[in-house]
Amino acid sequence: MEYVQDYFSCSGCNNRDFKLIYNFSIRFSGVNFSDELIYDRLTDETYQCTKCKKTFTKSQIEETLADYKKRRKSRGQEGGV
Ligand SMILES: [Zn+2]
Repeated sequence: MEYVQDYFSCSGCNNRDFKLIYNFSIRFSGVNFSDELIYDRLTDETYQCTKCKKTFTKSQIEETLADYKKRRKSRGQEGGV
């Protein structure tokens, strides 16, 4: 079986290695603070290039990978799913 692999690479330096950074937060929505405080716990994930420290959001990476898929399909290569 043959594989072709497209990697997401940093737009700053073309590096393929990223590390994951988490931001944890609580978002409050009942701002009058009277009865119940309504809040959401949020975890944001950011990916940082290990070389130039440029950061990317998960959706930026997903969109880029989806583009790769489209490009491969339109090139009509065999075995591409
Ligand atoms: Zn980089």
